[in-house]
Amino acid sequence: MPDTTDVLVIGGGLMGCSTAYALARQGVNVTLAERKAQPGQETTARSGAIIRAHYGVPELVTLAVEANRRYARFADEVGLPCGFVQSGYSVLVDAADETTLRSAVAMHQSRGVNVSLLSPAELGAIIPAVKTEDAALAAWEPDGGYASPQMTVTAYATQAGRFGANLRFDCPVTAAVREGTGWRVTLGGGEAISAGQIVLCTGNWSRPVGSLFGLDLPVTPVRAQIVVLERPASFAGVFPVVSDLINLAYFRADGEGGMWVGSSDNADLAEALEQPDGYDEAAGTQAVQDARRKAALRFEGMDAGDKGGVQRAFSGLYETTTDWQPILDSFGDGLHAAVGFSGHGFKLAPVVGEAMAARVTGKPDPFDIALFTLSRFAEGRPIRSQHPYQRAKFLR
Ligand SMILES: Cc1cc2nc3c(=O)[nH]c(=O)nc-3n(C[C@H](O)[C@H](O)[C@H](O)COP(=O)(O)OP(=O)(O)OC[C@H]3O[C@@H](n4cnc5c(N)ncnc54)[C@H](O)[C@@H]3O)c2cc1C
Repeated sequence: MPDTTDVLVIGGGLMGCSTAYALARQGVNVTLAERKAQPGQETTARSGAIIRAHYGVPELVTLAVEANRRYARFADEVGLPCGFVQSGYSVLVDAADETTLRSAVAMHQSRGVNVSLLSPAELGAIIPAVKTEDAALAAWEPDGGYASPQMTVTAYATQAGRFGANLRFDCPVTAAVREGTGWRVTLGGGEAISAGQIVLCTGNWSRPVGSLFGLDLPVTPVRAQIVVLERPASFAGVFPVVSDLINLAYFRADGEGGMWVGSSDNADLAEALEQPDGYDEAAGTQAVQDARRKAALRFEGMDAGDKGGVQRAFSGLYETTTDWQPILDSFGDGLHAAVGFSGHGFKLAPVVGEAMAARVTGKPDPFDIALFTLSRFAEGRPIRSQHPYQRAKFLR
């Protein structure tokens, strides 16, 4: 294996593989170091992988709509499938959030999102099983949906390798020292590699790995639970994603007759961990009960009690910053970071790779990422939604 590289991407989750792919595709000499044996084994593996453009931050809407377009033509562009199911994505609110939804959707439309407002009855015509008696208004993004995290990360890693990236698995970065204008980086086993530039894509491990390079990357792991419920035969097949901002849950289909239920309740996302290793990967009893209850409130045929069969129940770690928005930044000394996606990075990965590749190659930013600096935290300029919902708050 060569012991020099122009660019070292650290972390082989979705962000690292997307970045390595974007660089290798441009002919850049790039090495990716991932401590696990395969790509995408950590947060990426547990992702709900929902793709939508619905955000309260205009710059994020643009990133999300551009990324959604790339997911829609992923197999043609990247050359391997990502399992994108373009089921459509919907948001349901009650009277308390009706004005906010109207203003958010107007902003989305001004940024090129294919989205419209629907009456609850109109959403019911698209999703016959949905119950909308308590809803005042819905938003409908027909281009949204969900993909397969495994297929997506594998596609990026495989194609990065085919374009010449040097992919190093079972390869933790353990130390780093300055060497000329670049870095000498120690990998597991004591081996070392010299790199001109470094891109940190280390998710929940960004604090410890960032500190090896003198960076304080404030990323905190927060446990998030997903429950996959059985659907009745009467409710088979694909159905659009439903973001229920009344009961604070989101629902998506899968290909095995399941319904993924996640929480958008801030109270369920209060479990911040000191460090990401060795956490409880199962979902708790309360999360299962809440998922059943919320699914039964929102859909015909779902059982709120013990008859609501559970296919899987697991937890992953949101890689959070204090404003729940990512850090996409460069720091001098050849250092860059794409970290802290705070539980909503899957949908952004295609444009994150392109944005970081532009930073590394010294090209103009292809998207406006000026908001996502590390310094915003120290300067007291957190990113805030311009259209915050009453209950979901920063989670949309
Ligand atoms: C339950 C759950 C549901 C989600 N649902 C959605 C959703 O519906 N839509 C959406 O857009 N987003 C969603 N997300 C968020 C999304 O999955 C993440 O933002 C994204 O996967 C983060 O990717 P990453 O590459 O930054 O992190 P990771 O996938 O964690 O990758 C970081 C990598 O760094 C490696 N690493 C760590 N230390 C070292 C080291 N010293 N040396 C080398 N490698 C190292 C790790 O092994 C890991 O593979 C969800 C997340 C969770 C947990």
